[in-house]
Amino acid sequence: MNVLVINAGSSSLKYQFLNVDTREVYAKGNCERIGIDGSFVGHEENGGPKQKLEVALPDHRTAIKHVFEILKAVDAPIDGIGHRVVQGGWYFPESALVTDETLGWVREVAPLAPLHNYAEADVIEICRDMFAQIGNVIVPDTAFHYHMPEHAWRYALPRDVVDTYHVRKYGAHGTSHRFIWRTVHELRGDKTHRLVSCHLGSGASLCAIEDGKCMDTTMGLTPLDGLIMGTRCGTIDPSTVVYLNRVGGYSIDQIDTMMNKESGLLAVSGRSSDSRDIEEGAHVGDEHCQMALEMFYYRTAQLFAEMASSMQGVDTMAFTAGIGENSAEMRQGVADRLAWMGVHLDAQKNAVRSDEPRVISTPDSAITCMVVPTNEEYMIALDVAELLG
Ligand code: AMP
Repeated sequence: MNVLVINAGSSSLKYQFLNVDTREVYAKGNCERIGIDGSFVGHEENGGPKQKLEVALPDHRTAIKHVFEILKAVDAPIDGIGHRVVQGGWYFPESALVTDETLGWVREVAPLAPLHNYAEADVIEICRDMFAQIGNVIVPDTAFHYHMPEHAWRYALPRDVVDTYHVRKYGAHGTSHRFIWRTVHELRGDKTHRLVSCHLGSGASLCAIEDGKCMDTTMGLTPLDGLIMGTRCGTIDPSTVVYLNRVGGYSIDQIDTMMNKESGLLAVSGRSSDSRDIEEGAHVGDEHCQMALEMFYYRTAQLFAEMASSMQGVDTMAFTAGIGENSAEMRQGVADRLAWMGVHLDAQKNAVRSDEPRVISTPDSAITCMVVPTNEEYMIALDVAELLG
């Protein structure tokens, strides 16, 4: 089955066209600057060179038309479309076929993720209307966390506030964490009942997974919570918002921008949100970069222990996403701060670069540590195949 996976943002639209059975990626790309001057499509076919096609993309409808036009060059029919949805709210315990009802849900919960859900809902509607013969599936990033125990998702706020505004932990990166569990389980079977999946990219979250079920995760109502990220501050005292507003004179919108776009590794290092630049700075003695790394290791190890505690133990730790898959130094930094839990990496194995899932801990490590490249598009395509198959 051939599936087109779409990941729409407010001014961008990423796509990947792949075969679920062979995992072959026929083509992938992204439409950038939709609705803004200078829009273009970056497109790659069968691992070939990336082409930049400068086209006017006044809206998402035009972008989708372009994507379908470009994909005509691929000699394979589109059998289904999978839509990544950032926030499924209290509605989606799993992926679902697009209907008037499910599309309505995506819009209803959009105030929780306004930058993403509105655009995603529009794109889903456009695809459904333009290509009525192709099945469309909604794959919410929160669905995997839906069944977290109540003691993990409930916020200790007044019940009527929680109920009226649906303020609770929803988590994010669920599709990636689900893929990591699936892969680790395929490789390790019953040796892993309790996994902490560590998705460390420009956005970062940990997820405690026991026998395939999410027990807790570090992101909360929104993807701002938890770990220190590229430009996001992660968990801080919530009163900071009130204080900055009342005493600092910052508006709520300014604080929102500050905490999401101007904080995290970027703010602490004063150099970059990219871990490669920060590692480089730290190596040449930049103290701010050294502190950014130290804080990243400290918080990641601390929250790892929190995730382990939610399962009363942990068998396997899996690193994934941009930092988790590529930075041996960051993996080592986190693992060093977990030596008290019996985590020990094999330095040689940790240094290996590969696209394959692999073990990087020593045989006597109390927790098996792995690197597992994530593949959210494939996971989405699998859901499409299951629901349409
Ligand atoms: P992601 O959001 O998963 O695409 O991850 C993006 C982040 O991963 C970048 O901002 C970098 O900090 C980090 N990253 C990507 N590639 C590498 C690499 N080769 N070495 C170290 N860090 C990397």
